[in-house]
Amino acid sequence: MNVLRAAWGIVTGHMVTLKYLFKRKSTIDYPRVPYPHPERFRGVHELRKYDDGLERCIGCELCAVACPANAITVIGAENDPAAPTSPGQRYGYRYEIDMLRCIFCGWCEEACPTDAIVLTPRFDIADYTRERLVYGKDRLVVTDPFKQHLANTESAAKTEPGVI
Ligand code: SF4
Ligand code: SF4
Repeated sequence: MNVLRAAWGIVTGHMVTLKYLFKRKSTIDYPRVPYPHPERFRGVHELRKYDDGLERCIGCELCAVACPANAITVIGAENDPAAPTSPGQRYGYRYEIDMLRCIFCGWCEEACPTDAIVLTPRFDIADYTRERLVYGKDRLVVTDPFKQHLANTESAAKTEPGVI
């Protein structure tokens, strides 16, 4: 009797396995398969350029004022007329976003008069130190968004684990 009961237990167990074997998987093969974002997902920022290579940011600080988390630091400077960084008088000399403070609300994007700061669908910002999560212009300014994404990913992969 016990043997029959044990055998029935094995059969019912396998029936459950078979039932789920052919169902659609609820997991994905990340990172080989990109995570499907909702259409309006807001992730890591980019500072965009114009097609002629000039930076869109004019250092006006409106994004920093709008930021409810005090995550943005902007220091503007006068453009060199002989070799301007952006159109107009001023440009963003220093631009930093502290990703640990950011709540990805998108207010900086709303406030920007030149569409310079844009939130992208990128979310993979894990890193080993707090310092590396303060993004400067070297990681935010983008000419080719795809190349910048690769550069950020490779640079994060090279970072040695450290004390936070
Ligand atoms: S998304 Fe929101 S919290 Fe993050 S930097 Fe922009 S304004 Fe600040
Ligand atoms: S990103 Fe936009 S709002 Fe922020 S300083 Fe530059 S131009 Fe001004």
